[in-house]
Amino acid sequence: MGEITQVNPKEDYDIKSDPNYIPCLDKGFVRLVEVMGDDSSIVQSARVSYGKGTKSVRADRALIFYLMQHRHTTPFEMVEFKFHCKMPIFVARQWIRHRTANVNEMSGRYSIMEDVFWIPETEDLRKQSVTNRQGSSEEEAVAIPEAKEIQKSFQEDQKRLYEEYQHYLKVGVAREVARANLPLSIYTEWYWKIDLHNLLHFLSLRLDAHAQKEIRVFAEAMAHFVKQYCPIAWEAFEEHVLHTTTLSHSEAELLSKALKEKGLWPEIEEKRLNQLKKEEASDVRIQRELSDLRRRLKL
Ligand SMILES: Cc1cc2nc3c(=O)[nH]c(=O)nc-3n(C[C@H](O)[C@H](O)[C@H](O)COP(=O)(O)OP(=O)(O)OC[C@H]3O[C@@H](n4cnc5c(N)ncnc54)[C@H](O)[C@@H]3O)c2cc1C
Repeated sequence: MGEITQVNPKEDYDIKSDPNYIPCLDKGFVRLVEVMGDDSSIVQSARVSYGKGTKSVRADRALIFYLMQHRHTTPFEMVEFKFHCKMPIFVARQWIRHRTANVNEMSGRYSIMEDVFWIPETEDLRKQSVTNRQGSSEEEAVAIPEAKEIQKSFQEDQKRLYEEYQHYLKVGVAREVARANLPLSIYTEWYWKIDLHNLLHFLSLRLDAHAQKEIRVFAEAMAHFVKQYCPIAWEAFEEHVLHTTTLSHSEAELLSKALKEKGLWPEIEEKRLNQLKKEEASDVRIQRELSDLRRRLKL
């Protein structure tokens, strides 16, 4: 398990040298401050409801997978992660919508905002998606030299707005008012504490391809720490949440009809059985999984 460093109160503390620091975007970061618990905390709390029988690593693993698969979520709330993060305000606005975390943000009323702004790389000046009104086309960016000009204009505007901010402060405008004209690209920072259940919910939404790339980068950094501290829960999350798909009722009906018409269930059943045997699943689990799959495929 990696070492967790507490915030160093010394002024000359170089945060970038912290082993739990992951740079994000051009000037942001995620730094793991503290973790309470790990995979064993999930198992330990679950045993309160399932008895003391499970002891081996294999059994623990099966239990965590079972809990994740059947959305028995409270045992995952027994693990907590605390992060120190720095992100542009437009990223923070998306992030803060996740209401189940405890947050303490730097105050622009109390402190002078730092002269730190997000400047997009030219490839990040993505074109508007034609299929998704809310998203961008990750494959296509505005061409050079236009992209270079936009990048330059970001920098010039940021510089001008920051100089004006400094001027407002100099003539006596309160910090809480002077900051109001700063752009969304300015960086803010916060401490963000969340339990594993809610962190995984955040990650399921913000690692998704529909999430904006600039918040995904932060989600990936946090996912790195979840993998490190709760590797089994992470695997179970990948298996039962992250890489799964849901079908609408109409889609499921179509699929079910096609499978029935083509008589494909015996083949699917056999292949799934082989997968489960390879995982050394118990007979009880094999029965349960197969009947569950059949039910979900409406067969
Ligand atoms: C791709 C994408 C696009 C988005 N676009 C927009 C947008 O255009 N406009 C916009 O405003 N938002 C947008 N959002 C934000 C989105 O609507 C949610 O607010 C955000 O993802 C937080 O999700 P959540 O409420 O599930 O999370 P959390 O706030 O972390 O809550 C976790 C869960 O706790 C429960 N919960 C928490 N608080 C309450 C409550 N008060 N009442 C009932 N249940 C609660 C819910 O089950 C919830 O799912 C977008 C999010 C994504 C991922």
